[in-house]
Amino acid sequence: MASPAGMRKSPPPPEWSAVTRFFRPNGALSRTHPAFESRPGQVAMAEEVERALEGNRKLIVEAGTGTGKTLAYLVPALLSGRRVVISTGTKALQEQLYFRDVPFLERVFGEPLRVCYMKGRGNYACRQKIYDAENMPVLSGLEEVADFQVIRDWEKTTETGDRAEIRTLPEGSTAWAKIDARSELCAGQKCKQFERCFITLMHQRASEADIIIVNHHLFFADLAVRREDQAKILPDYNAVIFDEAHEIEDTAGQYFGFIASNYRVQELRRDVAAMSRTRKFGSEELDRILTRLEEVALQFFDKLPGAEGRGSFLSRGEFLDQHHETYTDLLAAFDLLASHLKLIQDAPQEIIPLFRRALELRQAIQFLIESEDQRFVYWIERRGRGVFLQATPIDVAEVLREHLWNRVDAAVLTSATLAVAGGFEFVESRLGLEGARTLVAPSPFEYDRQALLYVADHLPQPSSPAYVKAASEEIVKLLNASRGRAFVLFTSYQQMRQIYDRVSFGIEYPVLLQGTGPRMALLEEFRETPHCVLFATSSFWQGVDVPGEQLSCVIIDKLPFAAPNDPVVDARIRNIRESGGNPFYDYQIPQAAIALKQGFGRLIRTRSDRGVLALLDSRITRQRYGQVFFDSLPDYSFTMNMSDVEKFFDV
Ligand code: SF4
Repeated sequence: MASPAGMRKSPPPPEWSAVTRFFRPNGALSRTHPAFESRPGQVAMAEEVERALEGNRKLIVEAGTGTGKTLAYLVPALLSGRRVVISTGTKALQEQLYFRDVPFLERVFGEPLRVCYMKGRGNYACRQKIYDAENMPVLSGLEEVADFQVIRDWEKTTETGDRAEIRTLPEGSTAWAKIDARSELCAGQKCKQFERCFITLMHQRASEADIIIVNHHLFFADLAVRREDQAKILPDYNAVIFDEAHEIEDTAGQYFGFIASNYRVQELRRDVAAMSRTRKFGSEELDRILTRLEEVALQFFDKLPGAEGRGSFLSRGEFLDQHHETYTDLLAAFDLLASHLKLIQDAPQEIIPLFRRALELRQAIQFLIESEDQRFVYWIERRGRGVFLQATPIDVAEVLREHLWNRVDAAVLTSATLAVAGGFEFVESRLGLEGARTLVAPSPFEYDRQALLYVADHLPQPSSPAYVKAASEEIVKLLNASRGRAFVLFTSYQQMRQIYDRVSFGIEYPVLLQGTGPRMALLEEFRETPHCVLFATSSFWQGVDVPGEQLSCVIIDKLPFAAPNDPVVDARIRNIRESGGNPFYDYQIPQAAIALKQGFGRLIRTRSDRGVLALLDSRITRQRYGQVFFDSLPDYSFTMNMSDVEKFFDV
């Protein structure tokens, strides 16, 4: 690849690397970016990323808000001459990189860059299904028909087939679910549309690209299939860069575990029935087999223990003794379906993925019920009518070491929240990356001037029965001081509801409550409504950006320790204890410190933002471990007096 356009005129000093030359004052970046300011944190990070890619190293970087970390990894990746996968926490960040940062860098470099993005197959349209839907009655209701018409017209012109291009399509569009390109019903190379299939085109673009932008879900889905020595989703790559790397442990856990649910069985049954109609391999016998599968699956999932929510499944042996017949009936029903599909004469290609799904689901259920592998925690979640039986690796460090860090040449992990009290031991041990190089790239913000941290030290402990009333009164005072313009963030849904009921009538500002509308719609309303207040839980603690005065106060109810009765958290705690560690100091405090930093990180997004962070949990000042939280947060000004908060807003 050529050097950036602005760097060709005068030969640079030999001691400066390509990356340093790019970011230095009067370098390529400053010539293209009208508001360029050299940021030491950005330069330091970019140089470390360059060294990691060149020297085949592993690197962990905490890059505070405003560092400009995206360019600090994109530029060295582009200049490295290697194929680099960049994995982000969300599809929104993927799009931001591809549609905002890459075009900007193309202007700087003065040439097109070989960058593409890949998302999961469910994001793309299946041309064959769209054509089939035109001729067969698969759509129901006016809304589905209207959505389908939009999709059909768009399919004729889109180059990518990515649903994100259709801004008007509702998030949960049922028409989309009937025509998306998920692999379950894909005929692959035998499909008439294969050459012009959006999935084929996506893979072609990826095979020609230097940089492939994916999200963590797709990345770990790929890693999981590679581990099984099955096919791969991504082309081979030399290096990986994880943005929002604090989410890796949870996402990896999902893909290296097992899951079975009543919904998955129902979907399989529905897909086989629908495909047997469209591809004409239906029969009375197949109907009987599907009905039997549905019946025994219903019995099996009904008999699983547990109430609404997540709980450990410690009684698997007992369950098997009591319900052995139902369990073996279910396995037999899968076997019957699989052998029936296999024996169909002149079977269409679409049968193969259905056959594979029946076998995989059967294997998953057998593992979930019978496996004695102690490296997993076995648990059940009930959500409304859904029953999800799961096995999650207790410690993903070993899996990542074996299947990722040892196989990839270079890896960079970055996020605004990775360090605990300035150190990286927590993330290193959780992810199996001991010995990686580390860097804290400082934010250019003046936190002590821009933000005031207020701790309501006088409140009762969060576990006290008096807490809800006292915290509600405190929130009213804070919201009056900030004149609304606040996020009130909670660690539990129940506490949010209780406090919302008390506070919403006590203030004169408009109040929004999580759960009363889609997340993006609530956020949009918050941005557009003067003096608005939003009550929310964990999904608003990260990935939310509201720069400016509209968000001037972030209130957090308590230190965000993960619920110790959650089956996965509980298993990790026990595992650390059994290995001789101290789960509270080694796991629970560091995890909560990172979460607190994430939540408070919503407030200051630019150099001109200012506001108050309020914590309604006195344990941070009264317990010895509170110091770890203070040491992990940026250098905010600090007070325990409400009068300072009022003064701050009076300025
Ligand atoms: S190859 Fe698969 S995803 Fe692509 S159009 Fe054909 S059936 Fe649909």
